[in-house]
Amino acid sequence: MTIDEAISHAREVAECQKMSARLIEDNAYMPESVDKEAITYGNTICADEHEQLAEWLEELKQYRAIGTPEECLAAKCTPTAYDPDKVVEQLEKLKSLVPVNRVLDDIVNDKPKELGMLIAYNKAIEIVKSSEQEQKSECEWKLEDAESNLYVTGCENRQLIFEGTPEENGYKYCPYCGRKIKRGGIDA
Ligand SMILES: [Zn+2]
Repeated sequence: MTIDEAISHAREVAECQKMSARLIEDNAYMPESVDKEAITYGNTICADEHEQLAEWLEELKQYRAIGTPEECLAAKCTPTAYDPDKVVEQLEKLKSLVPVNRVLDDIVNDKPKELGMLIAYNKAIEIVKSSEQEQKSECEWKLEDAESNLYVTGCENRQLIFEGTPEENGYKYCPYCGRKIKRGGIDA
């Protein structure tokens, strides 16, 4: 059975159950003393449950269209990787397309829109470049107090290590700033 068949089956069952309930309710031959509501109670519940089932299956179908659970999880947990140099190159190219003649135009007075574009591109380039710098830079850890094995980090935090150096404890990235740990100073 395919998921579409399961959905239409669930909807059909729901319709049948609703119809049964209606037939009993509308049955003129049934004596007044019969509690019709009690009899149709089961049909109504069954109809509601099958409608709920069909809705869940519709939802499942949408999830499946996106990918397997593993694929969705992987996509969610993988940070978007991009090459900052390529982004800067693209921004530089777009910036060069802004229609201004740096020799002939009075950009500040006559081309405020173009000036805005140039400023925006420069700002974007600056942001991408600085985030790249941030990624490449390291956090320098220095042993501040040998007695207690206290380290001071480049991002001005203090980390107490129970025993041994950060490397011996498998520390690779600074838990405060997320940068790679670089060892500075001399250990006692
Ligand atoms: Zn740090």
